[in-house]
Amino acid sequence: MKINVVKNVLEANDALAAENREKLDAAGVWCVNITSAPGSGKTSLLEKTIPALAAKGLASAVIVGDLQTTRDAERLGNLAAQVTQINTEGGCHLTASQVAAALAGLDLKGLEYLFIENVGNMVCPAGFDLGEHARVAMLSTPEGDDKAAKYNTLFLPADAIVLNKIELIEALGYDKSRLYDDLKKINTAAPVFELSCRTGEGLETWLAWLGAKRTR
Ligand code: MG
Ligand code: ZN
Repeated sequence: MKINVVKNVLEANDALAAENREKLDAAGVWCVNITSAPGSGKTSLLEKTIPALAAKGLASAVIVGDLQTTRDAERLGNLAAQVTQINTEGGCHLTASQVAAALAGLDLKGLEYLFIENVGNMVCPAGFDLGEHARVAMLSTPEGDDKAAKYNTLFLPADAIVLNKIELIEALGYDKSRLYDDLKKINTAAPVFELSCRTGEGLETWLAWLGAKRTR
């Protein structure tokens, strides 16, 4: 008898993530996994992004991960074509198997984008491929300008980095040069989008990146 052993949780996760990506590829859906600390503005970014894409005729679905509540799904419910809330009930990150279950309930036809809002956590979401095409690591100025250095594993696999709440830079004394100095040692390939979900400043360049990456 031959027994196949899946070496570890991450290996099983990676296999499921690859299946998710194949399913999305077959449907022509481009998927973005957004990771950050709680309160950086992941939901706020989607509240701005999804209507802007819809205005260009591009439909989005969202999978939202939270420990509890459907509050984020309710915020996004009127904006996105389809929203699925995953309650992890204590789990501090999303897994590819949870996303696979959510995908089974989504109608991928007619969608251009799938956004996955990960559980707010700067540590373990970094280690779990969900089947996305691009990983976004998000920061906000009230968190302090040292977070990329302290949580470098979140920024290593990022295809793009978003710095939100730039309208507060002066009030908080946020030193952007510290962030950029740290990123030079962590990830020099990912573009950094400085923006404000509140004022709308900087959103155009973020939207342009989303458009360019998907069509490529
Ligand atoms: Mg949220
Ligand atoms: Zn976790």
